[in-house]
Amino acid sequence: MVTKATVINTINNLSEVIIENSEMLNDLDRAIGDADHGINMKRGFLKVKTTMESTEINDIGHAFKTVGMTLLTSVGGASGPLYATAFLKFADQCKGNETIDLGTFENMLDAAIAGMMHRGKSDAGCKTMLDVWIPYTNTLKNENANGNTFVDALSKSMVAAHEGFEYSKTIIATKGRASYLGERSLGHGDPGAASTVLILKSLSDMFQEA
Ligand code: ADP
Ligand code: MG
Repeated sequence: MVTKATVINTINNLSEVIIENSEMLNDLDRAIGDADHGINMKRGFLKVKTTMESTEINDIGHAFKTVGMTLLTSVGGASGPLYATAFLKFADQCKGNETIDLGTFENMLDAAIAGMMHRGKSDAGCKTMLDVWIPYTNTLKNENANGNTFVDALSKSMVAAHEGFEYSKTIIATKGRASYLGERSLGHGDPGAASTVLILKSLSDMFQEA
């Protein structure tokens, strides 16, 4: 069972991971976009870090809501409102919670994906962050339904997340800035797919350590 303290820790660790990887995210965006995905994410998560420090977090829903609202107001670019939506949808699913379990996590992921698909008017196969969110979530749900252990289900889901990023290299972008490149987007991994791998790794670790 994941507690509020664990969630706060995870958010702080995730902020560090995003900040450390901002150059890598810029490099990916340089190939098929405008080289600012790392800048955008770093700006957002630096603000998440300071906001989390200065906010008295009441419950797990409040923690995720704080992340979502902070990203909404601080991240420019297409990714800002999409990630904000994901964290705000997470928050909806655990309003008032002192703990969360893997069942709640599945509902959080489902709500986040539905929110991002609606907001981005996109789906799997458009060479976006959804090409990682969706296979991760599908794998987690299948593994759980088959009665696999949490640890095993989470590690298989992370394999699916990495495969989703690799898959993004093989398809033509049809959403976002990269879609302007058409076929020239082939062979390059999607920057939002890469940052989603980092986010889902942090969340997977949160459950594995619980
Ligand atoms: P911008 O494209 O405005 O410069 P970023 O570089 O921060 O913003 O983010 C780009 C990422 O946003 C892409 O790599 C992709 O994963 C994601 N993205 C862009 N448009 C969409 C969309 N319509 N649906 C889902 N994800 C999208
Ligand atoms: Mg960009």
